[in-house]
Amino acid sequence: MLTDNYQRQINYLRISITDMCNLRCLYCQPKPETGWKIHQEILRYEEIVRLASLMIQLGIKRIRVTGGEPLVKKDILWLIKGLAKIEGLEELALTTNGTKLVPLAEQLKENGVNRLNISLDSLNNDRYFMITGGGNLNDVLAGIDEALRVGFVPLKINMVVMAGINDDEVESFVRLTFDKPVVVRFIEFMPISWQEISWDEGYLPAHVLRQRLAQKFSMVPCSNIQGNGPAEHYKIDGAVGSIGFISPISKHFCDKCNRLRLTPDGHLRLCLGQDMEIDLKQPMQNGASDEELKGLILQGIRDKPMGHQFQIKRPEGRQMCAIGG
Ligand code: SAM
Repeated sequence: MLTDNYQRQINYLRISITDMCNLRCLYCQPKPETGWKIHQEILRYEEIVRLASLMIQLGIKRIRVTGGEPLVKKDILWLIKGLAKIEGLEELALTTNGTKLVPLAEQLKENGVNRLNISLDSLNNDRYFMITGGGNLNDVLAGIDEALRVGFVPLKINMVVMAGINDDEVESFVRLTFDKPVVVRFIEFMPISWQEISWDEGYLPAHVLRQRLAQKFSMVPCSNIQGNGPAEHYKIDGAVGSIGFISPISKHFCDKCNRLRLTPDGHLRLCLGQDMEIDLKQPMQNGASDEELKGLILQGIRDKPMGHQFQIKRPEGRQMCAIGG
């Protein structure tokens, strides 16, 4: 069992396999002056599988593949197969913007992905295009249908709610749960590095949203969501699916944080909201043994910060696309 200095059990690894994405979301894209990381800086699939295996030997049980957009990577199924067959891994999940799921959902499932999260911030074509810097909503809606068809049930749909940008659509997102086996999760907008929209203006606390929705819908608390993370879940009377609220800012869950993150360029990031990282790529490429790499990972876990400090200090070191959500 992997435990940090605050007695938190660390069993979950998020791997961002690329910072590149086919969308340019308002709050999540590279700084104009730096752009995407060049290809040579990104870990090779074999290196990702090696580091994941070492972390599983140490006590990681669940892995989420994310990005950037993981499904823009060539030969993604090679990586999925490689991760899925690591002994000791109990769950392999993937987070995607959903635009590439029509051709890939079935193969992802067949090759070992157990769970899928799809990010979607608007159900309006023009607004989706605006928020994502050119995305086509129909691609995602078709991706959701395909994911459900091949059996990713329940399917989580994550919406970052931003005041004045898309908060008028939350009721429409709730209605998605009426007849689809989806869990719509409303996520608080976080201040991370450079963003094209102002966090101060866009941030909407989850409890404000919950009160607003409770005036319109009969919401019953529920807790039986598979893969239950930090969300508070509710079911609307008679709905097939459910909704959840994730409040990293207004009611953070750092004391229960069980996560590590591996960045595309091979750094172990210990907290989403703090820039402290340990470089694993350089030692690995300089010939470090498995035991030496495990030592570095354990050192990182011991130094894992108590929590983020979003409201005091915004992490500036990396864009979200280079951390992995
Ligand atoms: N491209 C994939 C996708 O769209 O799901 C995976 C990467 S994306 C960085 C993962 C998740 O992080 C998305 O749901 C995105 O909305 C969320 N995210 C990015 N920046 C965020 C922020 N500042 N606050 C809250 N969520 C954020």
